[in-house]
Amino acid sequence: MKKELSDKQIYHPETLSVRAGSEATEYGENSEAIFLNSSFRFKNAAQAAARFGGSEPGNIYSRFTNPTVTMFQNKLAALEGAEQCVATSSGMSAILACVMGLCSAGDHVVASRSIFGTSVQLFGNILKRWGLEVTFVSLTDSKEWQAAVTSKTKLFFVETPSNPLTEICDIQVLADIAHQAGAYLVVDNCFCTPAIQKPLALGADIIIHSATKYIDGQGRCLGGAVLGTKALMEPVYAFLRTAGVTMSAFNAWVFLKGMETLFVRMEAHAKNALALAKWLEAQPQVARVHYPGLASHPQHALAMRQQTNGGGIVSFEVKPKAGQAQQEAAWALIDATQMISITANLGDAKSTITHPASTTHSRVSAEARAAAGITDGLIRIAVGLEHIEDLKADLAFLTS
Ligand SMILES: *Cc1c(COP(=O)(O)O)cnc(C)c1O
Repeated sequence: MKKELSDKQIYHPETLSVRAGSEATEYGENSEAIFLNSSFRFKNAAQAAARFGGSEPGNIYSRFTNPTVTMFQNKLAALEGAEQCVATSSGMSAILACVMGLCSAGDHVVASRSIFGTSVQLFGNILKRWGLEVTFVSLTDSKEWQAAVTSKTKLFFVETPSNPLTEICDIQVLADIAHQAGAYLVVDNCFCTPAIQKPLALGADIIIHSATKYIDGQGRCLGGAVLGTKALMEPVYAFLRTAGVTMSAFNAWVFLKGMETLFVRMEAHAKNALALAKWLEAQPQVARVHYPGLASHPQHALAMRQQTNGGGIVSFEVKPKAGQAQQEAAWALIDATQMISITANLGDAKSTITHPASTTHSRVSAEARAAAGITDGLIRIAVGLEHIEDLKADLAFLTS
């Protein structure tokens, strides 16, 4: 009889990504089974009552729990070093479940200005209408976080590296400020994944994932997750099972397969991204390159302390030609690519190219974009797994 993968401490993270969370049914399948059923049946009325009452653990209904989704949660929890993971239908619903679980009307959230455009909308527009107070501050200036704290502050919310400028915050420093204020630090770890950065080990309380990105890794499914202690995840789960922002079992299965290759993929993404960032930096038509793995990145040293590498996202500013507007220059480069996909998704094996100002961040006001440093000349590339020479060749417009 083989041992269960119970003592997670003795296995390396790479091994956990392949093995943790996996549980076979009586058939002994080696690859995880997909449970596409909505409900589960009970031996008798007493067992149904015990399951519903919580005195007997087990599945009831797939809006609450599902064996394939549970395997996903356990694998990601093992990788992040979290007690508990709550899987959600998307990254956005992970953020929503986190806030709805932990905050009430009148509570206050301090959020980085440099977060995913849709997250800005959720905090600054939708949740605000329901009585959540939100203050946006600079990701990198800890004094602004300190100054924003009120007696009602419940959460600090950051993405590091940020989208699309790859700015880095010191997780430990922000965690200390949050804890002194009696608040929790939430880190959206979508850009790094636990293969590169483990926010809980750096002092954060809660992790958000869009599993849609690198956890899947091949652009197939939408999903998300919230991770933290059992106590913090209890109200998050309570919201999820009631509101129904549940991850589908099929998607959980895709993500389980994705996580098995997470470490090798992230290393390959980062290797390509560093090479591309260095090449971009050498092009006269490029004004500036943002990549945490470059020595020229303002927080390079901090990034290399918090992360095992620079990750897979590179952004850069195209220099407009004489008489050309910034956006015109950026769009011309994007339209000159033959291979790289013009899409806003990231974390795919296929490299993608985006003009943030007119797509992902178009609903952010021009002033807010300017304050965040997202100019009309900025381009983001989520560097995929193609050969580096083919990526450079696809951007040859810069050398023409
Ligand atoms: C994509 C993304 C989200 C939202 O995730 P969805 O799965 O698209 O809902 C949240 N945060 C970051 C950093 C993202 O890139």
